Amino acid sequence: MLRTVLAVFAVVLLATACSTTPAPVSYPLNDGGRVSAPSAITTTASVSAEQGPFQPDADLYLCPNSTITNAFEYDRDFRVLNFNPIVLIDGKVVMAAVPTNNACMTSGFGHRMGRTHKGLDVRSRPAGMVYSAAPGIIREARRSPSFGNTILIDHGQGVFTRYAHLDNIQSGIEEGREIGFGQPLGIMGTTGRSTGVHLHFEVLTGSFPSGLTAHNPLSFPPYMALSAGF
Ligand SMILES: [Zn+2]
Repeated sequence: MLRTVLAVFAVVLLATACSTTPAPVSYPLNDGGRVSAPSAITTTASVSAEQGPFQPDADLYLCPNSTITNAFEYDRDFRVLNFNPIVLIDGKVVMAAVPTNNACMTSGFGHRMGRTHKGLDVRSRPAGMVYSAAPGIIREARRSPSFGNTILIDHGQGVFTRYAHLDNIQSGIEEGREIGFGQPLGIMGTTGRSTGVHLHFEVLTGSFPSGLTAHNPLSFPPYMALSAGF
């Protein structure tokens, strides 16, 4: 029911936007309550890799029985309010805020058990595919003691994303390769220092490899496309 309402809402928004140009619009939602990726989701002119099948979910919910820090506000259905599926990082890079489908949030960014948790933890059951949040160049695709099977993507403009604890690294995902939006990276897992199957996702800015600063993936503004393209 909720998804139907959202879809109708999106159609109304779209119709409104089309009659008053130019105006920012929300992304149209398909029947599954998912967001169609922008067709022109590019961040660096040099990346020409094929775009993948990923369609971000329109909503993000907290997982049952989870202790969430910095979860932002949520409603009585545990749906995160003001969640933006497609975000704009530092006014430069467009990406998906949660790069997997049908996942709920198990932990937020920030203070957790005396330490700073530098990413967003999400999980799906069964464990789902993790996708590239935006086009870029793969800087790391390796196994580390803490992150387990981990991938770091350079999106240009000093913006990076990290995907950790993957069960596997998809074949073809290799350091130095170009990657499009929504390309499969591997199934979420519990490799490295992890207490259960999930994805640890980081958004970072700065310089690779030693000057990167992590940010809350949910803290960025929505990417608003001009209606001219619809
Ligand atoms: Zn984490």
